[in-house]
Amino acid sequence: MKVLVLNSGSSSIKYQLFEMRDESVLAAGSIEQIDEPGSHLSHCVRSPQGEMTKTLRTLPINDHRQGFALIASVLKETGALADTGELKGIGHRVVHGGEKFKEPTRVTPEVLSTIRALIPLAPLHNPANLLGMEVAMESAPSVPQVAVFDTAFHQSIPRHAYHYAIPKKLYEAHQVRRYGFHGTSHRYVVKKAAEFLQKPLESLNLISLHLGNGASAAAIRQGRCIDTSMGLTPLEGLIMGTRCGDLDPAIIFYLERETGLTSGAIESILNKESGLKGICGVNDMRTVGEMASAGNPEAQLAITMYCYRIKKYIGAYYAVLGGLDGLIFTGGIGENADFIRAACCEGLAHLGLKMDNGKNLGRPEGCSAMESKDSRARILVIPTNEELEIAEQTVACLEAEPL
Ligand code: ADP
Repeated sequence: MKVLVLNSGSSSIKYQLFEMRDESVLAAGSIEQIDEPGSHLSHCVRSPQGEMTKTLRTLPINDHRQGFALIASVLKETGALADTGELKGIGHRVVHGGEKFKEPTRVTPEVLSTIRALIPLAPLHNPANLLGMEVAMESAPSVPQVAVFDTAFHQSIPRHAYHYAIPKKLYEAHQVRRYGFHGTSHRYVVKKAAEFLQKPLESLNLISLHLGNGASAAAIRQGRCIDTSMGLTPLEGLIMGTRCGDLDPAIIFYLERETGLTSGAIESILNKESGLKGICGVNDMRTVGEMASAGNPEAQLAITMYCYRIKKYIGAYYAVLGGLDGLIFTGGIGENADFIRAACCEGLAHLGLKMDNGKNLGRPEGCSAMESKDSRARILVIPTNEELEIAEQTVACLEAEPL
């Protein structure tokens, strides 16, 4: 049973084709710079021996429709998928599902209109996700399609945690509330944690830290998300590559008055020029780590601030969970940066979190435990796999709602 997962951006389409019997990746790739000079396709296909062969083609790709046709034709040429009719379904990543979508949902014209109505909540992402779904539905009309929302896992957050302390009418008229993002990743790693610990997810209290270019924390009580650090948008919460995370909201009005910058320009600074980049000039944690080791004080400060913010969230979520079974690190930084994991856990023995510094070293293979023998809670590194989670949810949705 094959499932294609699509992640459609404004000028790109990323894809992975899965064989769901053994959850293997048959092919994966991306189309980048659609309607720009240098538009190209990068495609990897798995040989029968299990080796991945990569091809790169630079060619004019004028729109998403051409992009989808190119993906279908390269999947065919390389023997991964003879025809889109072989697909059990296509799963689409959709960033914002608002309050409407609490679960993966079969794509219909009504669902598309509801996602369209949510564009004001995610003006950069939802239009591109919609375009991807429309093109895929037109190009492969007989293949069932499923929308999987980044916000859905967080829809279990209770009202006292999702409301902001602002006039109620701003929620009622404009849906201003905490939604949270990276839900697909948090959902995947907490499921994997339960498998790894050989305990039912419903019995576990976990804190999940997705640390990639974007970063977010989630508090999971008995398997359900009860709080998360991102808010109405992905700007709130942890310090990220280029996003500031938590901030006194009055800073925006102060900057407007003092600098004459427009709110749009300030929004861009907070999203694209802040975070690690704002503190030390670079947003890639590998470079920040190298600079810090070479003695650069700004890079050292960036790492200290980054981990201090994470520790504050661990403390807050520990308090609201009322007990912790495990802390999960995932995402490019969480999976790879041992120095960040070590600094985030340092001094948390009083919360029952004690790292074994030897086990923590390097990048572990698969899921692994990093805590010392006398740690009350587990400390886990779990590689995320958002595409596989989308594929699994696509199958689950289609099996729950057959045509
Ligand atoms: P995205 O959010 O775009 O999916 P990733 O999850 O791939 O991003 O994470 C990207 C981040 O992971 C970058 O800051 C990168 O520097 C960091 N990273 C990747 N490998 C390492 C490593 N070996 N050591 C430190 N940081 C790493």
